[in-house]
Amino acid sequence: ALMITDECINCDVCEPECPNDAISMGEDYYVIDPMRCTECVGHFDTPQCVEICPVACIPVNPQHVESRESLWQKFERLRAEQ
Ligand code: SF4
Ligand code: SF4
Repeated sequence: ALMITDECINCDVCEPECPNDAISMGEDYYVIDPMRCTECVGHFDTPQCVEICPVACIPVNPQHVESRESLWQKFERLRAEQ
């Protein structure tokens, strides 16, 4: 999963781009739910939030480093929930 750092300027452009509804406004800035972020695996070739963020504040979450396979499994789980 990816994460948003405190460099976020709350511009709100990433939130509607997320195919997994993983992004929401947090206490001070936007946050990514690691249970929902597949790094866009299953939807796009590249993370859409990273593509669009004007300040490049969306790195990999060091608490949630995941293999492509586990990201695929998360994608399948989220799809089954729909
Ligand atoms: Fe959403 Fe993709 Fe960004 Fe993860 S990488 S938060 S799934 S847009
Ligand atoms: Fe924050 Fe970047 Fe999302 Fe804008 S696009 S709300 S700066 S994380």
